[in-house]
Amino acid sequence: MDVELVSIGDELLLGFTIDTNAAHFARQAAAVGIRVVRRATVGDGAAEIAAAVQAGLERTGAVITSGGLGPTADDLTKASIAALFGRGMTLDEGILEALRARWQARWSRELPEANRAQAMIPEGATILANGHGSAPGIWLEDGQGRWVAMLPGVPREFRGMLADVLLPRMIERMGGAGATRVIRSRTLRTTGIAESAVADALAGIARKTLGASLAYLPGWEGVDLRLTVRDLVPAEADARLDAAAARIRAPLAEWIYGEGDEDLAAVVVQALRASGRTVAVAESCTGGMLGMRLTAVSGASHAVMGGVIAYDNAVKVRELGVHEATLAAHGAVSVETAREMAAGVRTRFGVDVGVSITGIAGPGGGTPEKPVGTVCLGLDLGGAVSAQRIVSIGDRQEIRQRSAQAALAKLLRGLRSADSAVR
Ligand code: AMP
Ligand code: MG
Repeated sequence: MDVELVSIGDELLLGFTIDTNAAHFARQAAAVGIRVVRRATVGDGAAEIAAAVQAGLERTGAVITSGGLGPTADDLTKASIAALFGRGMTLDEGILEALRARWQARWSRELPEANRAQAMIPEGATILANGHGSAPGIWLEDGQGRWVAMLPGVPREFRGMLADVLLPRMIERMGGAGATRVIRSRTLRTTGIAESAVADALAGIARKTLGASLAYLPGWEGVDLRLTVRDLVPAEADARLDAAAARIRAPLAEWIYGEGDEDLAAVVVQALRASGRTVAVAESCTGGMLGMRLTAVSGASHAVMGGVIAYDNAVKVRELGVHEATLAAHGAVSVETAREMAAGVRTRFGVDVGVSITGIAGPGGGTPEKPVGTVCLGLDLGGAVSAQRIVSIGDRQEIRQRSAQAALAKLLRGLRSADSAVR
């Protein structure tokens, strides 16, 4: 089934609100074989809304709208689409009663006059129940089976109603779930390897024989590789994705840490717990980001003992035992300092693993030898100390995020190789 999506709201056009509803809809729809062939965004004007919906109806005959169902004067979706269908608006007593009951139950108040507008619906419309808020959704269909489904813009309500009411209704129209051909994706997450190097590693795999399309999605966490198959029954789609994922995994195993939206910190905590190791962190330029990432993981308390934000050199010396001579000879941002920070935090905290980060996040402070983005990462794994220098790109925030991610990746690689050496 092909559909079009019309997102409604001045705030979307102005860029103050990001259209997360459209992205969510597209993902959910693809999974059940519904294709979004066009998206439009319009402001809160009745004429703009009607024009966008009409164009969509002429092309696909199936339009979903998001937004403009609220109780205020800028919420014109229902009335403008009703006019497009040549329908009037009527007060729905059932909805009015439900709204009154909701106000009494929640706030012990009479229904405000403005909210009566939410009980006005186009003649001949089907009401789509909203179990997540007050504004009901509306389904309006003409004599030729062309339809518009109107959902509220509040993301929690949009998502809830899509799952509860609209997707099931659309699946039924397509003839049930079993018959559906789907679009499915699988994402393999890499980190610590550049996009071009990923491409080189996969050069031996011909696109034609992979059986799935492959997208490279670089970001501060690393390069995600998304495989997508289309127009297959669900079991066949999954089998194709399994096969394609296995082929991609082989040359990139060292760099792959997870699938889907798996978080590298969660993978690291899991690996620490599995090997019965504890960790402490020493952070300079990231100021606690690495600790934050690790402690955000549920169950981190079994493996993460603590850390030091050693931003100033005096703190590196006093709290971590970094030598003044090392700082003088090599500077705070150096592999030598990173080594001493990692070793210092490991021994002082009495843990199995110490991890350190020291770098130049910018925008100031760079030199020709150590440009902005230069970051040194240290690792002390049970007394075996290593360090590496990387150069990250981006603004201050991104360099800090990339640094914490790189430190996690270094830690994971260390754990993996230590444990494979034992075996
Ligand atoms: P509305 O249904 O137009 O009254 O929107 C209610 C709230 O949902 C507002 O705070 C909007 O900013 C938000 N919203 C509306 N449309 C979207 C959208 N497409 N994606 C994310 N948020 C939205
Ligand atoms: Mg709005």
